[in-house]
Amino acid sequence: MTTSVVTVAYIGAIILFILSLGGLSNPETSRRGNLYGMVGMTLAVVATILGPRVTAAGIPYIVAAMVVGGAIGLYAARTVQMTQMPELVALMHSLVGLAACLVGFASYVDTSIAFTGAEKVIHEVEIYLGILIGAVTFSGSLVAFGKLSGKIGGKPLLLPGRHWLNLVGLLVVVFFCREFILAKDVASGMTPLVVMTVIALLFGIHMVMAIGGADMPVVVSMLNSYSGWAAAATGFMLSNDLLIVVGALVGSSGAILSYIMCRAMNRNFISVIAGGFGTGGGAVVAKADGQPAGEVTSITAAETAELLREAKNVIIVPGYGMAVAQAQHTVFEITRVLREKGVNVRFGIHPVAGRMPGHMNVLLAEAKVPYDIVMEMDEINEDFPDTDVSMVIGANDIVNPSAQEDPGSPIAGMPVLEVWKARTSIVMKRSMASGYAGVDNPLFYKENNRMLFGDAKKMLDEVLAGLSK
Ligand code: NDP
Repeated sequence: MTTSVVTVAYIGAIILFILSLGGLSNPETSRRGNLYGMVGMTLAVVATILGPRVTAAGIPYIVAAMVVGGAIGLYAARTVQMTQMPELVALMHSLVGLAACLVGFASYVDTSIAFTGAEKVIHEVEIYLGILIGAVTFSGSLVAFGKLSGKIGGKPLLLPGRHWLNLVGLLVVVFFCREFILAKDVASGMTPLVVMTVIALLFGIHMVMAIGGADMPVVVSMLNSYSGWAAAATGFMLSNDLLIVVGALVGSSGAILSYIMCRAMNRNFISVIAGGFGTGGGAVVAKADGQPAGEVTSITAAETAELLREAKNVIIVPGYGMAVAQAQHTVFEITRVLREKGVNVRFGIHPVAGRMPGHMNVLLAEAKVPYDIVMEMDEINEDFPDTDVSMVIGANDIVNPSAQEDPGSPIAGMPVLEVWKARTSIVMKRSMASGYAGVDNPLFYKENNRMLFGDAKKMLDEVLAGLSK
């Protein structure tokens, strides 16, 4: 393929990627969006391999790498559970960061193209920045992977004087950038480059370790954005326009998502990065005197079915527990039965429900729940006072009234779904354990709240059986 054919293929791929992003913004067009993305990526890969920059001798290596990478990808896609998706995404971001670092070092030691004067400085700044962003993305994403998969606790690690540590790190990185550019040859430039890489790796670890449980959604989308900028930096190093454009698309869409997540949680981006709240998740929360935080009223599945049958308006609020229990199909069945009986059933989706952006929407779409009854938090929050039953399925932090009522709470200020304003709220979960942010939930102790203890799938199966009687 000549350079001009490759350029045309790249432009085609870029258009397909933009159409893909457009399609993914709506559940109804998301399948088409995915298809555009796949076709665009195939076009990009084929054009790159057959393009003038790859010699015939290199093709077997590329094919071998694609077979190995493709096999690993296929295996991961087949075996990964839906609940492990957020971790998988974090792991993939780390690979983009690693690739940017490796390409950076390779470009630096590759002396086949001799840059001089301003071009040399620009090329070296590209390498330095590419490796810097790549290393932060790599180590930060690995820690995010650890936190999302529960291998590392959610509790923030707060080193004394951590902001000063970061500042000193930044100054050292700037100093070594100068050293790197002034270096006479590759051997003497290697030391500042390696020192910067180590600092960037430590910074990535420190940044994500300092972030508390409830702020993780912002970090996940921020690392997504970083992985885009790392890819764009790689594009600059390799003079590949497609990588630059695609990297910028991912980088900017990730940045917009981070902004949306911050707004959804009523948090300021800088204070999220400065980090530091939340406790370890999963603990049963007791008051300081060791007594349980209040009395709860339990309900059985049969009683739940009875309440639902008698209701006119029902709002279902799904959370992470629905994903763990894989209860979405039973939720759909219950919705269908109730709608057939004339009950107005709708879903209230919190922007950070589950463990990744859009988590609940994906599950409900998979279970074929009609899109027109799936509402965003802002669209449905005022309707709770006119609702007979609000049914919370494996959600906790996103329905916690202390976000509004307790200014000292770690999640204070985060908008929540006001399920307690319904005539009766039912919370379905296995125990009194806290959610991801590790804070107690006063909803459980409210007078109009009932607890349906047990695995969400098992309980919902029983509720469905009760409804079908
Ligand atoms: P939470 O993590 O607050 O609560 C989930 C609840 O589900 C738990 O309290 C758990 O209680 C229950 N549960 C777990 N398994 C089951 C099961 N098999 N059956 C029934 N219940 C179960 O989830 P939410 O969705 O309410 O909130 C999301 C949290 O995750 C927020 O704090 C958010 O900040 C954070 N987060 C979100 C991300 C995103 O992008 N959306 C990314 C990273 C973090 P029990 O153990 O008693 O059953």
